[in-house]
Amino acid sequence: MKEKIVILGAGESGRGTAVLAKKEGFEVFVSDQGSISLSTKKMFDRLEVEWEENQHTLSKMSNANYIMKSPGIPSDTALVQSLQEQKIPLISEIEFASRFTNATLIGITGSNGKTTTAMMTYQILKNAGYDVALAGNIGNSFAQEVAENDCQYFVLEISSFQLDNIVNFRPHIGVITNITPDHLDRYNHDFIQYLKSKLKITENQTERDFLLFNAMDDQLKEAIQKIDTQATIHPFGIKKNHAIATYEEDDHIVIQTQKNKTMINTMEFPLKGRHNLLNAMAASTVAHLLDISKETIRESLLNFKGAPHRLEPVLKIQNIRYINDSKATNVNSVYFALESMSTPTVWIVGGVDKGNDYEILYPLVREKVKAIICLGVDNNKIIDAFQPITDIMVETQSMKEAVRVAHKIAEKNETVLLSPACASFDLFKNYEDRGNQFKQAVKEL
Ligand code: ADP
Repeated sequence: MKEKIVILGAGESGRGTAVLAKKEGFEVFVSDQGSISLSTKKMFDRLEVEWEENQHTLSKMSNANYIMKSPGIPSDTALVQSLQEQKIPLISEIEFASRFTNATLIGITGSNGKTTTAMMTYQILKNAGYDVALAGNIGNSFAQEVAENDCQYFVLEISSFQLDNIVNFRPHIGVITNITPDHLDRYNHDFIQYLKSKLKITENQTERDFLLFNAMDDQLKEAIQKIDTQATIHPFGIKKNHAIATYEEDDHIVIQTQKNKTMINTMEFPLKGRHNLLNAMAASTVAHLLDISKETIRESLLNFKGAPHRLEPVLKIQNIRYINDSKATNVNSVYFALESMSTPTVWIVGGVDKGNDYEILYPLVREKVKAIICLGVDNNKIIDAFQPITDIMVETQSMKEAVRVAHKIAEKNETVLLSPACASFDLFKNYEDRGNQFKQAVKEL
């Protein structure tokens, strides 16, 4: 008899799981509480995948061998609870996909820097001639890639929600970029619970595997000291602090492993900011552990363009620099953005607050921010937080207005930075829309 998989959610990971499950001979049923896009429905029909939308019919799920829960669906919904009571194994898409590939997996997780680090790593492996694909939260789902393009290496960007429901998923190299409070609403507002879900990346690693983590992150460092893992632990950070480590010394990234040591010259690296040096350290260490030469690593990083909406330079107008950091949807990423500013800055901030605590930004705002342009439906929290330490604060309600006001306030050799610290859906479709509107408004100045 065919095994049956029920897929909850018809988004990117649901679609990918359906394609792979069908290819592997499963009976597949997809159920989405919302509506499913027309193109997805057509695809399911073509694959002969049964589906339903705007409802979940429990009776069609009870005979399943597996349930794949899309990362967007919280674990505490009534449906998920009752499926769990029936003891049907609940797995995530990365768990399912990893069962059908023998590829070497590189899993990158953390609160910030996942996309940038994953893209850097992918670019180095690709330039080194490896048969590699980039998947997960970026581009295609891992399952889709396994179904259509099974490579020897996968660089996976992994969210904590994907890690929550793994069973045997085992990356050969796991990377944790940092852990700061984000998405706490999904973890009972419990930071430890969120931390634990990120640490699951190492749960199935063996002594042949590696766990890379950012040693400058104190909470992460402390948590790593307590975990039980068989993997070789390899910290990366700014200061040399361990026998095995990646650190910076005299314009070089130094990578010291159990076997050898290498040094990569960081002069002329195009990506600025301390956070990007950390991302580059992580990516270089992965590459070095996979025996890629330092020349290829340096060459790849020299040509790395950075991802859009992440401290993306837009234009220089009348000697004022405009920078789009729309992807900065939490306080930690804004911290690094402000830290990397080398001129007085007009800061555009605001949107939907996710429980932000702005206090860690105070010293940087005092030092670097000349004016704050609030861009959100409700700006009260930002005003309360920064009014005491900022001379100029202006409220705006559209990107065009925000950019025009910023342009008036900024002077020669200063910077206008969009780095919102908040989600975007009060005024925009998503962070890409917000960033694109910013770029458009700047071009129209
Ligand atoms: P993620 O995929 O984890 O959201 P991104 O690479 O898309 O991470 O970057 C998200 C935001 O965080 C951007 O504003 C970016 O400039 C900033 N950022 C990138 N790397 C780091 C890092 N290592 N630490 C903190 N912030 C970072």
